[in-house]
Amino acid sequence: MSVTSGFDVAARRAEFPLLTQSVHGQPLVYLDNAATTQKPLAVIEAIDAYYRQINSNVHRGAHQLADRATTAFEEARVLVAGFINSPAPEQLIFTRGTTESINIVAQCHLRPMLRQGDEILVSGLAHHSNIVPWQMVAEACGARVVPIPVLDTAELDMAAFRRLLGSRTRMVALEHVSNAMGTVHPVAEIIALAHAAGAAVLLDGAQSVAHLDVDVQALDADFYAFSGHKMYGPTGIGGLYGKRALLEAMPPWQGGGEMIETVSFERTTYAGLPYRFEAGTPHIAGAVGLGAAVRYLSGLDRAAMAAHEDAVLAHALELSQEMPGFKLIGRAAHKIAVLSFLLEGGHPHDVGTLLDRQGVAVRTGHHCAQPAMARFGIPGTVRASFALYNTLEDVERLFSALRKVQTFL
Ligand code: PLP
Repeated sequence: MSVTSGFDVAARRAEFPLLTQSVHGQPLVYLDNAATTQKPLAVIEAIDAYYRQINSNVHRGAHQLADRATTAFEEARVLVAGFINSPAPEQLIFTRGTTESINIVAQCHLRPMLRQGDEILVSGLAHHSNIVPWQMVAEACGARVVPIPVLDTAELDMAAFRRLLGSRTRMVALEHVSNAMGTVHPVAEIIALAHAAGAAVLLDGAQSVAHLDVDVQALDADFYAFSGHKMYGPTGIGGLYGKRALLEAMPPWQGGGEMIETVSFERTTYAGLPYRFEAGTPHIAGAVGLGAAVRYLSGLDRAAMAAHEDAVLAHALELSQEMPGFKLIGRAAHKIAVLSFLLEGGHPHDVGTLLDRQGVAVRTGHHCAQPAMARFGIPGTVRASFALYNTLEDVERLFSALRKVQTFL
């Protein structure tokens, strides 16, 4: 098995038990990592150990287990906050994931300040979860959601972005990396431009945290949203990072236990960060699992991992060029290992089903990015998205399966 740039992919694969199974009698090639990644033993075992040995509610018990659960939960926060270089753990709020994180910022940060005629600039490649929450607050306040145009390469039109930025712009919300096409946007430049225009920036990091080194301070991001399950952690847990002053100025998201300081029928006061935004019993096991995922990723040579993923993408691009009828959608100069494509004569869903019969799992359809599909005049694509455990052999399996699919079209 391939060892690229010092990254031992065979050793990494062995840490992911799910990958050893067969599907339709064929060894599984899992290429749906942008939807969700598989979990290493370190994560599975951390969740198992939590339920076997620690399980208790956090922050309120007088007994030893409650202390241990609270310690495990807060240690996970320190790990996850450190992973994106948050200046303090309390600026990292545990949420259900990217979707909830964006909704919190839309409802609690933006909505109270949004006025008639204000504008929210969103990426033309955005995932629906970075469009709809802004449309909801815009509609309530008489503001407008304005898409940032996309070039044929699936890169943002930066000249158009500069023109759109103005005194009405309250918020720029865009993905760090596009889930539909893999494009890595020049987010540091975008943030600097937005700040110069007086707008705040939310970065949707759903597709970046597993692949790129994210430093929210170096980026000067106002908000950063991400999901645990796309970075080798469990589902149902994710994060919202925010600048302290912005988070402290925000009203709570949901009311309930955990988020209060004092409650009386006359007056309730709210807890400080991060608990003000974490009403109710949190997903404790999820946080522990996400902490384990971050520890796992931090223990890898991340530069070697990124070089490996780049080599996998390069191999896929090379093989795609040799395949007649293969149309790549998204040719950004800077992209992660996501291959969105069409096969001449084949509907993406049919291609996906025929790949599945050969043990190759891909995603088909609009990838929750209908405006991006509309921009390219297509209803959807086939998307193969790669993770650290994918090999050059996986790429070859994909293309030999595609050649077989072509014989059915
Ligand atoms: N943003 C992007 C770019 C995504 O790829 C996804 C999921 O595919 C999301 C947001 C939503 O993430 P979640 O469903 O984990 O909240």
